[in-house]
Amino acid sequence: MLIDLRSDTITQPTPAMREAMFNAPLGDDVLGDDPTVNALEAKAAHIFGMEAALFCASGTMTNQLAIRTHCRPGDDVICDQLSHVYLYEGGGIMANALASVSLPQGKRGKLTPDLIRDYIYSPADPHKPLSRLVVLENTVNKGGGCYYTIPEIAAIRKVCDEHGLLLHLDGARLFNALVETGDPTQAYGQLFDSISICLSKGLGCPVGSLLLGKASFIGQARRYRKLMGGGWRQAGFLAAAGIYALDHHVERLRQDHARARRIGTLFSNRPEVEEIYPIDTNIVIFRLSETLLAADYVQKLEQIGIRGITFGKHLVRFVTHLHLTDEHIDQMAGALQQLTLETTY
Ligand SMILES: *Cc1c(COP(=O)(O)O)cnc(C)c1O
Repeated sequence: MLIDLRSDTITQPTPAMREAMFNAPLGDDVLGDDPTVNALEAKAAHIFGMEAALFCASGTMTNQLAIRTHCRPGDDVICDQLSHVYLYEGGGIMANALASVSLPQGKRGKLTPDLIRDYIYSPADPHKPLSRLVVLENTVNKGGGCYYTIPEIAAIRKVCDEHGLLLHLDGARLFNALVETGDPTQAYGQLFDSISICLSKGLGCPVGSLLLGKASFIGQARRYRKLMGGGWRQAGFLAAAGIYALDHHVERLRQDHARARRIGTLFSNRPEVEEIYPIDTNIVIFRLSETLLAADYVQKLEQIGIRGITFGKHLVRFVTHLHLTDEHIDQMAGALQQLTLETTY
């Protein structure tokens, strides 16, 4: 059997989640009366101490709506070079918000107050774009699932306040960070102007992300969502999965993290693996020796029943999720013994 660790997005709804979806009361969300969507939005806003929330089809949509709503044409967004909003959203900062972007290079994709300060332009200089928005990612996908702590974020918030900048969080895997740090969710609502969280990653929903923020901001984002064709009708089927996941799939993320560490140990013993990123949450990234291409290696792994993805010329990524069991990892350990150096080089 193939062990699929390409992403935590590949999971399918559990029987209990399907049951919750099947039984969801429905309405027309574009008309504002789908009770399950409304309940999910209220629940998520409450968890993070935000005024309002908007349920959307994807994390790309919630991030892009946030950037579009916060920025005007010619504004500048500051985000790390490795950030999803820059690398993996189709150029949306430019295409959707007509904004430019500044790209500091943090350590494992994490920004610091000093890095951000270096990229803030003087609003008095008409040559420059107008610095408007800072975007943080937590956990950092490209950084191998590393996370920010509240004091780190508070220091960044301070810089934003000093320079009149807004602060958005791409929290696609925010709950993975929260189960590790134990940080209070309400603090996030106080530190960020807007937050995007994904339900279809570690939380195991088939579809869905939420944008959180002030009521006026969410109202404007709702207009843009409609403009982009993102208004949806009986979306309560999907929202029910979200409510179920927030109630039942958060604490279990710890298991994904423990399994990611086990997988890290398996690969750290391999001669072809040069370096493994520290495993902080559910993402395992390792670098192969120079002579080995990640694309070839991933193919070899697939032949022995393990599926990962290439994450650079010599980088391989695995993501653990709710379908992965301890038995699968035992199976991986056995399979890896068949992966001999002769077959890899
Ligand atoms: C997955 C992900 C998103 C959103 O992706 P969608 O596939 O559009 O839902 C955003 N940011 C990060 C860091 C992600 O990993």
